[in-house]
Amino acid sequence: MSARPVWAEISLPRLLRNYQRLCAAVPPGAGLLPVVKANAYGHGLVLCGPALAAAGAQWLGVTCAEEGVALRAACESQGVAPGRPGTPGILLMSGLWSGQAEAVLEHHLTPVIWEPGHLDLLEAAAARRGMPPQSLPVHLEIDTGMSRQGVRVAGAAGAAERAAGAAGAAELDRLLARFDPSSCLRLEGVMTHFSTADTFLSTQENSQIASFSAAVRQIRAAGLAPALLHAGNSSTILAGPDAAKLAALAAEAGATLLLRPGLALYGYLDRMTRDRNPYSPPGEASYEPVLAWKTRVTSLRTLRRGETAGYGNTFVAERPSRLALLPAGYADGVNRLLSNRGHVLIRGELAPIAGRISMDQTIVDVTDVPEAAIGDEAVLLGRQGERSIAVWDLADLAGTIPWEVLCAIAARVPRIIAD
Ligand SMILES: *Cc1c(COP(=O)(O)O)cnc(C)c1O
Repeated sequence: MSARPVWAEISLPRLLRNYQRLCAAVPPGAGLLPVVKANAYGHGLVLCGPALAAAGAQWLGVTCAEEGVALRAACESQGVAPGRPGTPGILLMSGLWSGQAEAVLEHHLTPVIWEPGHLDLLEAAAARRGMPPQSLPVHLEIDTGMSRQGVRVAGAAGAAERAAGAAGAAELDRLLARFDPSSCLRLEGVMTHFSTADTFLSTQENSQIASFSAAVRQIRAAGLAPALLHAGNSSTILAGPDAAKLAALAAEAGATLLLRPGLALYGYLDRMTRDRNPYSPPGEASYEPVLAWKTRVTSLRTLRRGETAGYGNTFVAERPSRLALLPAGYADGVNRLLSNRGHVLIRGELAPIAGRISMDQTIVDVTDVPEAAIGDEAVLLGRQGERSIAVWDLADLAGTIPWEVLCAIAARVPRIIAD
């Protein structure tokens, strides 16, 4: 049976080149924790995760235990198993729920923790297995301003901030007390995630780094010596002074710094590095997009002037028009806000989306692509001939961000290795 023609082509050589570029861009002594959460930003966890591990990634970041188990299995099926050299640590970055601690132990996953309840779950599971003291590594998250996850610490001036800081410090001390030498828990890492992660203006990050530094000092004053500190995303690596500040903090704490790139790894920094990022050196080697999203023309029809297309008749032919049908709709991840706004590429030309995007189909206007024929490849995202449709362009048109455009590509769209 041949498949419905909607697919995403993944280039592992591009992924690995981006990875190597990022490795070269971090401060001396620092490492990377490539982020492969949410099905590797839609690029396919089981394709990208093991490829990065084989290229030397010592850590990979996922959302939750389910993703961690799938990634561990994919790595093992390619011969990268716990206990063997080159086996990546798998960091669960968004919490831990009742019933997941067993999977953490079974599959050697490393949870980010910040709630006492996380430690309760892990200690109970470790006790059931009779695990020895300090045998279960965890990473502690510090909330430096996102107010989302982590132990809240406040670093800055002002009486209110000092009061909040004191409360945060007390909360942190209570959590640190759980890491006494008899506990099965070991504080292997301390991390934070900046609320400015999606911008390149790092003025706010400065106060966040100050808060993170204060927390790291408090942790060391409590007699704990985490081996890893990690913070910062794609923008931190590529934008200015923050990576160097974090490296200085890690050196002071006797720890190794890891930075956690996601979007840069998959190659969608074109806009950031050229137009938006004031720190970007001119002529900097660009990151290459790893994914191309494609479909094919499956039907064609001609409309007379005044005839309409799609739900709600929102496309009205202003001239005799030729319309092509594509078997990809919003259930495949084509954002419905691109209705009558977006384009696809057919025979190297831009073909505008005509009418409302349906659940499983999209109509495009190929009046100006007269050679268009059934079976032609249509590019939703990526390059065809001289033109390309960039993830940033789709995000702008749909009023969203590249991260969401990529994650929205549905599970039913097969990911195929392109080269
Ligand atoms: C998603 C995520 C990242 C990666 O962010 P990018 O902006 O895609 O580089 C890093 N750290 C954490 C905690 C994340 O959740």
